[in-house]
Amino acid sequence: MRGQGETMSCVFCQIVRGELPAHTVYEDSETIAFLDIHPMTDGHTLVIPKVHAERLADLSPELAGKLFQTVQKVAGRITRALHAPSLNIGINDGRAAGQAVPHLHVHIVPRFPGDGGGSIHSILYKSQKRPLEEVHRLIADTL
Ligand code: AMP
Ligand code: ZN
Repeated sequence: MRGQGETMSCVFCQIVRGELPAHTVYEDSETIAFLDIHPMTDGHTLVIPKVHAERLADLSPELAGKLFQTVQKVAGRITRALHAPSLNIGINDGRAAGQAVPHLHVHIVPRFPGDGGGSIHSILYKSQKRPLEEVHRLIADTL
């Protein structure tokens, strides 16, 4: 969570407050979903928590659950409305991952046969540097 100044200037907080127009497709007390202004495909939608949080780790487990309930709901609606056979669902979580808007958002990108896009594996190709066993130990030891 951030200070008040950051929420005032945050474009997604402005959408939540109704100060910026958006093509809203779903809203409840804690979350809102609206069409991405530069869609990758028809129906590209962003789902956000209404509270300003920059990263997934900044959300309470309860709100993270609510956010993904909304993702599931909206994904179903998009699938039905646009007859989208598939979806990519993802978060650019942090600047190094490509996050441009510092208010957590889940991208729902409908996918269609022959749309020219790749899978999540197309983000990076074989950039792992450490052995799998070492990485496993580092992560498993924190659990
Ligand atoms: P990211 O790189 O994950 O931070 O992506 C931010 C996304 O927000 C981009 O896909 C933008 O097209 C989208 N975006 C930025 N401003 C707006 C806006 N005012 N309304 C809807 N989508 C927006
Ligand atoms: Zn915000």
